[in-house]
Amino acid sequence: MPTPLPAPYLVGVSGSAARLIGLDPAQLDAAAVEVLAGNRVPDRSTPLAAVYSGHQFGVWAGQLGDGRAILLGDVATPDGPIELQLKGGGLTPYSRMGDGRAVLRSSIREFLCSEAMHALGIPTTRALSVIGSDQGVVRETIETSAVVVRMAPTFVRFGSFEHWFYRDDQARLRLLADYVIDRFYPQLRDEANPYAALVEEVTRRTARMIAHWQSVGFMHGVMNTDNMSILGQTLDYGPFGFMEAFDAQHICNHTDQNGRYSYAMQPQIGHWNCYALAQALVPLIGSVEETQEALDVYQPTFGSEVDRQLHAKLGLHASREEDRTLFDDLFGVLQANHADFTLFFRRLGDLQAGSNAGDEPLRDLFIDRPAFDAWAVRYRERLAAENSVDAQRRAAMNAVNPKYVLRNYLAQVAIDKAQQKDFSEVARLLAVLEKPFDEQPENERYAALPPDWAAHLEVSCSS
Ligand code: AMP
Ligand code: MG
Ligand code: MG
Repeated sequence: MPTPLPAPYLVGVSGSAARLIGLDPAQLDAAAVEVLAGNRVPDRSTPLAAVYSGHQFGVWAGQLGDGRAILLGDVATPDGPIELQLKGGGLTPYSRMGDGRAVLRSSIREFLCSEAMHALGIPTTRALSVIGSDQGVVRETIETSAVVVRMAPTFVRFGSFEHWFYRDDQARLRLLADYVIDRFYPQLRDEANPYAALVEEVTRRTARMIAHWQSVGFMHGVMNTDNMSILGQTLDYGPFGFMEAFDAQHICNHTDQNGRYSYAMQPQIGHWNCYALAQALVPLIGSVEETQEALDVYQPTFGSEVDRQLHAKLGLHASREEDRTLFDDLFGVLQANHADFTLFFRRLGDLQAGSNAGDEPLRDLFIDRPAFDAWAVRYRERLAAENSVDAQRRAAMNAVNPKYVLRNYLAQVAIDKAQQKDFSEVARLLAVLEKPFDEQPENERYAALPPDWAAHLEVSCSS
């Protein structure tokens, strides 16, 4: 059972997440807040915490489990049942040395980023609400606690399978795999080997999800196998970040000293995690070769998805042999100049194929402007080769290159205000992030480079 949260108050609610489960976000009264806080369990709900294990930072960590997440149950929707989970709802049998709580700071980050990722078109768990309380919790300093209600068809992770595999409990392993297949991948039942097909499909979805992360500069920060959804959704928002000054080696999680989860490493770690899942399913699949084959879809899926995304980001229709070098050289210039990732791609949409007259805003993102100019010459040649039309290309590029992403400093401003009981910035920022591809003239400042003070912001696993 969730542990009641004293004197809960509403910090934020996502209207679109609410409507998904048939809730009117304007009608969240005190009774609803009690439910979202975990203080009143709805009728017919049997709360539970799930066990799982996992590899953390590449090392087998043994049993973990929902240490502070409590599942309330699921709600029927036109798209199928959606589970509601309280995160920060108090102690569970899997809390280990934790307190079962989450702080307001990380709860606001998870809430905003879940909804921002959804709006970017990236598979993700959703966030319905953040409820705060003045109850103190100890982290590096004393902070206040909060509860996020997360939503997803399931929160089963790679680590859920690893758990029964390492326990050598094949019966439960099979029970879990059959549950996941029957409920979420029923089409795989007809395959010769449904368990191999499951690994293959999850591997494919994971590869696509990570290609999508790369394309918007999203860094997860803690890609442990217990944070990998069996549905290929982005799961568990902690020390995530969006790439600003481009650096492929960037590590967004201050706790990740070796950079295992840096931007450049994410694709191969995604594959590694699929291996961990596949390994756990070998007893059901029955053959290592077949398991290996299922995993082999990762590279080609990731490669073609990244290629597709990059063509779209650059507004290119056709695919040509020389494009690989064009892309590589672009990332070389971005890296050398630490150009802002989001601003660069967004402004690239304004480039005129036939003239460099309007290049200034784009060039200004580079210290070495001649290096950008040299690349732009080749890009223009490439555009000319496919008779690219400026207005059309711009519209297409603006539909894939977001103007607004959840920069750390934007989240921090909202958090600082919320800690002073002013929740207006949480709502305002959410509204901006819900339309990441739109021009929002009144919100131009949310697209700006981070201010100087943001250079000192650090995010860690502390949450
Ligand atoms: P994470 O790094 O966020 O994926 O968390 C790893 C594990 O630690 C998960 O099993 C969480 O449930 C657990 N955990 C994290 N924070 C707490 C907390 N404050 N209380 C209890 N368990 C926690
Ligand atoms: Mg986790
Ligand atoms: Mg976490």
